[in-house]
Amino acid sequence: MPDFLPPSAPAGRPGCELCREAGGTLVFQSARWRVIRADDAAFPAFYRVVWREHVAEWSDLALADQAALMGAVTAVERVLRDGLAPTKINLASLGNVVPHLHWHVIARFDWDSRFPAPVWAAAARAVEPPPAARLRVPLEELDARVARAVAALAPAA
Ligand SMILES: [Zn+2]
Repeated sequence: MPDFLPPSAPAGRPGCELCREAGGTLVFQSARWRVIRADDAAFPAFYRVVWREHVAEWSDLALADQAALMGAVTAVERVLRDGLAPTKINLASLGNVVPHLHWHVIARFDWDSRFPAPVWAAAARAVEPPPAARLRVPLEELDARVARAVAALAPAA
């Protein structure tokens, strides 16, 4: 796993957890964005693409930067679709809790605990066997595939 590269001063914000730490299992990091896997047992194939500098809103990014970030989001989505054949991919950018620009890329399955509601809804059912055991591809292999896919877009930092 790569080492977390914090925002260059003075772009970081004290007290922002995505400026201070990776925010999950760090899968790949370029100079401008990183991909992490959220460590969420209910949703094991839950990745985030995080802009490195502290930016709160999508429209704060220049168009070229939006395109670069969306390229990474798209690459992660493609890996999840190809590897896991999910019922649906969910893309979301909220930032209500941590207002540091990031996109959620989440593989959803009709058996998951909240489907068809958003992952942030209350659980509707228990899932057995555990979600990670139901994936077609082990998480370590999925991480490696994601890292390879996004490495084609930008060099590692
Ligand atoms: Zn931040």
